[in-house]
Amino acid sequence: MKRYEKMKYRRCGASGVLFPAISLGLWHNFGTDAPYSNCRDMILGSFDLGITHFDLANNYGPIPGSAEETFGRILNSELKSHRDELFIATKAGYGMWDGPYGEWGSKKHMLSSLDQSLKRMDLEHVDLFYHHRPDPDTPLDETIDALVQVMRSGKALYVGISNYDPVQTKEMIEACERRGVKLLIHQVNYSMFQLPSEDIISVLDKSNIGTIAYCPLAQGLLTDKYLDGIPEISRAATKNTHLNRDSITEEKIVKANALNEIAKQRGQTLAQMALAWVLQRTTTALIGASKLSQIEENVKIVDRLAFTEQELNEINKVIRE
Ligand code: NDP
Repeated sequence: MKRYEKMKYRRCGASGVLFPAISLGLWHNFGTDAPYSNCRDMILGSFDLGITHFDLANNYGPIPGSAEETFGRILNSELKSHRDELFIATKAGYGMWDGPYGEWGSKKHMLSSLDQSLKRMDLEHVDLFYHHRPDPDTPLDETIDALVQVMRSGKALYVGISNYDPVQTKEMIEACERRGVKLLIHQVNYSMFQLPSEDIISVLDKSNIGTIAYCPLAQGLLTDKYLDGIPEISRAATKNTHLNRDSITEEKIVKANALNEIAKQRGQTLAQMALAWVLQRTTTALIGASKLSQIEENVKIVDRLAFTEQELNEINKVIRE
């Protein structure tokens, strides 16, 4: 099938599962405020480009839960016959409903949340279920109990974690191993502007667990969007997002422009170079998008993933100085 000809698929750690080099996340632009036709174009268009992995969470919206509803509507009306070609992930752990069970890592929260997510997407199972953030107050064993139960019940085929620091990650991996559970993947904030600690990468490499880089474009800062300031139509100009105007500092704009010059020499856009760069150490780059043309631009990286030593030195100089 044509859709599988161009995309590159990469093995996730030591598992049997392959991820597309580019995955699509639905954190922004799939809530109740997003035009349905644009959401549909992005999902169907992504799949046609070979993107088989879609990343959701219970709370993605706004309103929380609505991204799962939008995705479920598109999936069930247009992609039902392709369900086995898709790798669908969701998460629990951030605040989702009122009261003491609406967040964190208790078995009560995790299992109820996954049931709600399956209902919103009208699915019998997800392919991957994450604990979205570590919980300082719930014993690790209880969170693992929840992950074991979702796998045994068949409601998720694989499990993963996100936002755990290196020490917590090592503890989680070891505790899972004692219970006979293998984590598939860790979802890490990873971009040229957000370098993860070497410790986390080495813990994951040693245990042969995959890494998925979230916000690989630093929410748009590592694209040509903000090179000359903040455009009117952008995440930073939109109210109630996690990218506020104050975080677009002069220093970041100067760095983005310097990186853009290196990208031009490589014959790539800044977004493409930023994605190729995170893929050196990760299984897949988990992008967001507000329109299909951005996704079309981003998947073209598969033509140019390699870097010369000189390019890497130049990039390092910009991002680490
Ligand atoms: P990115 O860093 O990829 O930023 C996406 C934004 O960049 C788009 O919305 C768009 O901004 C802009 N953009 C993308 N491509 C282009 C392009 N080619 N040209 C110009 N602009 C472009 O990722 P996100 O911040 O969206 O996060 C991605 C996913 O990561 C989320 O959907 C979610 O699944 C996951 N995530 C996980 C977290 C966790 O705690 N585990 C936390 C955060 C995210 P604009 O909208 O302005 O057009």
